[in-house]
Amino acid sequence: MEYIDCNVCEQHMNSFIENRLVGEMLWQFLTHVERCPECFEELEIRYLIERALDRIENGESINLRKELSRKIRVTKKAMYFHYFMEDILRMLEVFSMIVITYEVFGFLSHFFGIVF
Ligand SMILES: [Zn+2]
Repeated sequence: MEYIDCNVCEQHMNSFIENRLVGEMLWQFLTHVERCPECFEELEIRYLIERALDRIENGESINLRKELSRKIRVTKKAMYFHYFMEDILRMLEVFSMIVITYEVFGFLSHFFGIVF
């Protein structure tokens, strides 16, 4: 898997904040942000500005810094689960292919009297 660099990461920051980042790009984005202090700081600033404006409009005050860490954690956890489920489905697919192959061979050997 190829990983994105700081430039690409920065290009996707606003999408992430607005929950518009999905799939492979979201995964790579989160991985980069976790490993790169510069990008995390940049994201934090953008997030704080974006959310602070919302909050001022709504009259709410919440610890936004904590909220960003939580957003990253929760999103990554959800993605782990997603990839985990994909692995399971892939395994089931392989398993059913094996069963089908076995059945077909069984049928053929029965039909033609060939023993495999
Ligand atoms: Zn970076």
